[in-house]
Amino acid sequence: MAQQKTIKSPIHFSGIGIHSGNPVSATIFPAPANTGFVFVRLDQNNAKIPASPDNLSENLLRATRLCANGVTVDTPEHILAALYGLGVSNAIIELDAPEVPILDGSAAPFCQELLKVGLEEQGLNAIPIQITDPIIVEDGPAQIVILPCETFKITYILEYDDAVVGQQTVHFTITPDTFADAISPARTFGFTHEIDALRKAGLAKGGRPGENAILISEHGYDTPIRFENECATHKVLDIIGDFAILARPLNGHIMAIRSGHALNAKAVQAIQERC
Ligand SMILES: [Zn+2]
Repeated sequence: MAQQKTIKSPIHFSGIGIHSGNPVSATIFPAPANTGFVFVRLDQNNAKIPASPDNLSENLLRATRLCANGVTVDTPEHILAALYGLGVSNAIIELDAPEVPILDGSAAPFCQELLKVGLEEQGLNAIPIQITDPIIVEDGPAQIVILPCETFKITYILEYDDAVVGQQTVHFTITPDTFADAISPARTFGFTHEIDALRKAGLAKGGRPGENAILISEHGYDTPIRFENECATHKVLDIIGDFAILARPLNGHIMAIRSGHALNAKAVQAIQERC
């Protein structure tokens, strides 16, 4: 069985939040075994927000929000995906604002720095969550089915009524190598026809097409895509980030159709209840 791991030394990032548009600094610190992932809001008297299923909040469209004792962390999913995808079990993430920096819209910048400082085994096992019976959660046409499996696999089917994106299907066995090489560079994306509605809802204010997001219009992608099926692969990245709050490896095959953060949260809560 793999051991719990943390990072060897702190790593610092700064940027803007994709939804708030506000500047933010984030520092990832090593943490003792059995800590899991805990955010600390320096601008809120060092309030601690553990990334746990109980702290998942439903108040943010199009991104994940964590909330503990009234203090929130927005858009934690890409930094958490990098940690969980590389096999880190424990880390403290300090922020000086409510939203994690979006950087280039993917998890690659987090991943590269984590690989640069390296990971350290902590002498205690990382006990996997075993899926023993299928778990199914649904929301309209979106569905997640999690089946028993000896490893961690994700299959994602993305379907849009959109000629540019259309249907994309991707399948991965998640290991630190596949995560770093084939998943972490996939960037977040949005459609030009949604932008006005998102901005009216106070979202996507920091979205900068081509810099931290792929913008899709009827003419195509506004920036060269990094690989085929980048949009569906980003959805896999988001699932890894949302499932990171389980803070233990998952032995199961996640099959997701059209799912987003709200349904991912429902699946995580179902796992917590049943496993
Ligand atoms: Zn995302």
